[in-house]
Amino acid sequence: MNAPAKYPHLFAPLDLGFTTIKNRVLMGSMHTGLEDVADAGPRLAAYFVERVRGGVGMIITGGICPNREAGRGAVLATPEDAVMHAGITKAVHEADPDVKIVMQILHSGPLAGTPECVAPSAIKSRIGAFVPREMDEELIEKQIADFATCARLAKEAGYDGVEIIGSAGYLISAFLVEKTNQRNDRWGGSWENRMRFAVEVVRRVRATVGREFILIFRISAMDMLEGGLAWEEVLSLAKAIEAEGADIISTHFCWHEAFVPTIATMVPRAAFAQVTGRLRKHLRVPMITSNRINMPSVAEEVLARGDADLISMARPMLADPDLVKKALEGREDEINTCIGCNQACLDHTFTGQITSCLVNARACRETELNFPKVTKAERIAVVGAGPAGLAYATIAAERGHKVTLFDAADEIGGQFNLAKRIPGKEEFYETLRYFARMIEVHGIDLRLRTRVDAAMLKAAGFDRVILATGIEPRTPEIEGITHPKAISYIDAILGRKPVGKRVAIMGAGGIGFDVAELITHAGPSGALDIPTFAAEWGIDFTNHPRGGVTGVEKRVQTSGRDVTLLQRRTTSVGKSLGRTTGWTHRLSLQRRDVKMVNGVDYLRIDDAGLHALVNGEPMLFEVDTIIICAGQEPSRVLHDELVSQGVAATLIGGAFEAMELDAKRAIKQASELAAA
Ligand code: FAD
Ligand code: NAP
Ligand code: SF4
Repeated sequence: MNAPAKYPHLFAPLDLGFTTIKNRVLMGSMHTGLEDVADAGPRLAAYFVERVRGGVGMIITGGICPNREAGRGAVLATPEDAVMHAGITKAVHEADPDVKIVMQILHSGPLAGTPECVAPSAIKSRIGAFVPREMDEELIEKQIADFATCARLAKEAGYDGVEIIGSAGYLISAFLVEKTNQRNDRWGGSWENRMRFAVEVVRRVRATVGREFILIFRISAMDMLEGGLAWEEVLSLAKAIEAEGADIISTHFCWHEAFVPTIATMVPRAAFAQVTGRLRKHLRVPMITSNRINMPSVAEEVLARGDADLISMARPMLADPDLVKKALEGREDEINTCIGCNQACLDHTFTGQITSCLVNARACRETELNFPKVTKAERIAVVGAGPAGLAYATIAAERGHKVTLFDAADEIGGQFNLAKRIPGKEEFYETLRYFARMIEVHGIDLRLRTRVDAAMLKAAGFDRVILATGIEPRTPEIEGITHPKAISYIDAILGRKPVGKRVAIMGAGGIGFDVAELITHAGPSGALDIPTFAAEWGIDFTNHPRGGVTGVEKRVQTSGRDVTLLQRRTTSVGKSLGRTTGWTHRLSLQRRDVKMVNGVDYLRIDDAGLHALVNGEPMLFEVDTIIICAGQEPSRVLHDELVSQGVAATLIGGAFEAMELDAKRAIKQASELAAA
């Protein structure tokens, strides 16, 4: 198929001299956990093949360790280890011989999570589990040799290349930065000495694999670390790596310890691509950029600006394996867009669970969660067009059922229509756009502004009734809860009731945090532009001081409201938020001077404000508004009516269980049920 005119850059092949990459989109490396399961080979093969069929030009695997001290994950150090990999490369090349598959070699160094971990100096990372062993010459030589052996075995296993990760706080980058390298031998001290390990690894790998094998080096182009790499060092390293024969340099914007969000949903799309663009001007090899590039139009813009030669999309390939194909066929409105939530991908990785995706529960479950066509179509009613109802309805219709989807509201989306109004959550609009299009594609009979009751359902005689009626906000039993000062989060978010200058938020779960974010932001809600994001997180894209952040002042615009976030538990406020994003929300609110109070026992609300005991001491919060964010209860009125009339119905999403409900669980449960 010819490339559509709107993507002249995206679909242009890239000639590397000895081989060609068929288009400019690659799936970036992600550790999914599939590498470590018993049937890793077939599951990884199915996962990759689905992305190959979806049109991607190149795949970079999750990180594979070159030896045992490099990490706890899968190791490629012997011919026996290579057997699984040969199965993967064979499956990928059979699916499309033009797609390249490149294995990432990951040596985690001080972040390896094993007591055997090694590093240039015995300095424990803030997020590392162990103090690493400081290597002597012999051990350093062993690591370099193991990189080379791993690359040779990857080539023998049928990979088209290897990517060496030299960023993020892993071993190679630990040599580069003074903070983690305090040696005074030939591997530390001066910049030339600190970059010696990186250069030596590339040299030895190239010498081992020969010329005609893709060698990618991933560099920390801006590591977001106070005292991190200076611009001159980044440039000097990139040039040295190029001189040693790297075919492609991939730019990474990450050091796991850094206090700057680089992929979370509040990061503007393609925010970091400009750094790749600056580096690209000084190099001859093609360059990859990444981070929050989640739609083909964004990728095309980056390429057209000359900021990169290739676009890495990692999480967007979890959300929609067919992203590239859909762009090629002009079906962008059918793309299930990655919303940058990290809830089912990175949060899973960091808690030892297999990766998946909030908006695509099939991701990494390609061998077990499938949606085959049915032989006998049923008439199905789905009540509630929130995430659970939408996921169920679209999958059931895709399978061939005749689905009628009801919602009392005048738009689909349920609570996502509240979430999308929170600053930094604008990507939720994309999920609603995707489902709206799926409703059209699969011919679902959508009935909005229709509050369903039991009599209606009974009269219509559906074969199956699915109740995705969601939740009701919980109203705590506190004296004065009906006082005009007390309003629900729904009224606050929709602006149906005014929010005063002094505010107490009762409940510090996900919604309490979101409400605090909304009411403390200045001006109209909307995705941050890149300069505002940079100012808020203290990034200087122009002058690129060390790490991009050293000595940069953070400037936050606020609404000027005086906000206090309260919870009853004595645990630290915000502890229940996502593993990889919770800290960004806490920091964002702290910068807006939001006070966080735990151990609160609410007593009553009156004209003076909110009376409470805080850790046993009486306290009056003199506020104008109290926003109730005290969790939710299942909405089961319709279910109870149906039961009383003897009509069978299945509950899903919040209607099934409101406790600890989130969209990830709602969509997963609905998808599994619709597949059954
Ligand atoms: P709902 O989304 O509540 O949808 C239920 C639907 O049923 C509604 O549209 C309602 O109108 C309809 N309905 C009810 N009764 C009837 C009836 N009798 N007839 C017709 N229609 C009916 N989750 C995350 O995972 N990540 C987040 O970042 C996140 N952020 C959030 C931010 C905010 C501000 C809020 C409010 C929620 C957030 N959530 C988030 C939670 C997430 O939105 C919910 O878990 C999810 O929407 C639950 O889906 P559901 O389909 O079960 O219910
Ligand atoms: P939640 O996370 O369960 O938080 C509810 C809060 O209310 C808690 O702070 C709870 O803690 C408090 N509470 C519970 N019962 C109370 C009572 N009777 N009186 C006073 N306070 C009470 O629920 P939520 O904030 O409503 O969010 C709903 C779901 O949406 C969550 O499960 C969440 O996962 C999801 N969500 C996720 C995100 C995200 O970014 N991932 C964002 C928004 C929402 P105490 O009892 O200690 O006060
Ligand atoms: Fe993207 Fe969220 Fe899916 Fe991760 S879980 S791939 S961040 S949509």
